[in-house]
Amino acid sequence: MRFEISKVLDAIEGRVCTDPSLARAVVDLAEVIRWQDLDGGRPASLLRLGMVIDALSRQLEEDSVPVYAIVHRALLSDADLTSNERMVVRRWADDGLVEVLDQPGDRMLEVADLLGLPVLSRVRFDGLGGRWPWLGQAGRVLAPVPGAGGPVFIAHVGGGQTPASGSRSPAGAKLLARQWRCPEPGCALFGGGGGGGAFADLARVDRAPAGQPPPTLRNGVPSCPRHGARLGDAGPRPRTAVLAVRIGGLVRRRFVLTETQPVLVGRAPDATGGVVLGQWLNDEARRWISRNHVRFELRVGEVIVTDTSTNGSGVRPGGSMAEPDRIPLAPQQSRVLGDGDLVELYPGVQIGRADEVISDAKFSPTSVMAEAPTMAMRLPRP
Ligand SMILES: [Zn+2]
Repeated sequence: MRFEISKVLDAIEGRVCTDPSLARAVVDLAEVIRWQDLDGGRPASLLRLGMVIDALSRQLEEDSVPVYAIVHRALLSDADLTSNERMVVRRWADDGLVEVLDQPGDRMLEVADLLGLPVLSRVRFDGLGGRWPWLGQAGRVLAPVPGAGGPVFIAHVGGGQTPASGSRSPAGAKLLARQWRCPEPGCALFGGGGGGGAFADLARVDRAPAGQPPPTLRNGVPSCPRHGARLGDAGPRPRTAVLAVRIGGLVRRRFVLTETQPVLVGRAPDATGGVVLGQWLNDEARRWISRNHVRFELRVGEVIVTDTSTNGSGVRPGGSMAEPDRIPLAPQQSRVLGDGDLVELYPGVQIGRADEVISDAKFSPTSVMAEAPTMAMRLPRP
């Protein structure tokens, strides 16, 4: 039993990140773990985060949606959590997968404002609509409450049922155009090296060097939300492109491409940071798709795909599913991705720019909870 729970916690770990390009909603972990009515269990449980992430996944009709979690430092020693749960949260903190703060204050709302993300919270935020006008918009603040088959979202503020993203605020756009450096040694959020620890572990959401969280603004000065220190400007943030993998009509995951970091996609890529498709493929697709099937690169803002497979792939120009339109991509051949183009590794397995790839089949999400055994099974590589 203990072993199973730690597998589930590992699966949840792959769904927390502070990467502005990947996070899809903001949560306050201290609040989420105490929603006892979700399962009627212990006073505090980290598994409730998994339930909320699953609910978000159902609502967005997309697998693998990560959340941006704000964590009060007291949680690292909260006696209502199991020692295993406390250890897991500490690991997330050390790896910069979550933001740990002494005084979270309204950092959750600041992050939501800077990144344009919805907030999942039961708090009503009375009197804060003047400072954060988007609080009144439909879908920007939703409260996860018990429902049939898991949490559902209702509006305490604003209205709506489906989480809605806005655009980054002007301050957010400015902050996210630069890279920042914290003077505190070993800062997990704004340190040097861009999260090597996370790169070393394929089970986690990949943290690109461009995946730094947004600084906090203290009297208008970009500061480290963890250490309070003024951040140094470390130059322009690398350009990024966010791509999405659609399998069987459903978006299964997104990944970030930067100009310094090509990404391999395939059945089970060799390189760290590669996008593993194996767990979503049937036997035929597994036989066809190579371990390293295609490589994506970002060069001067253009997405370039190179086939690295045995069997080849194809490009669907403008997303056209008409067979005569399909352009074959032979092994070792490269191509610049045009607007709306989809790379097809196998019928029904497509990759394109995230804002151009939508789920178009009835959604049957791979639960974060149910995924745990799969993750263990795919460790030995064929
Ligand atoms: Zn810091």
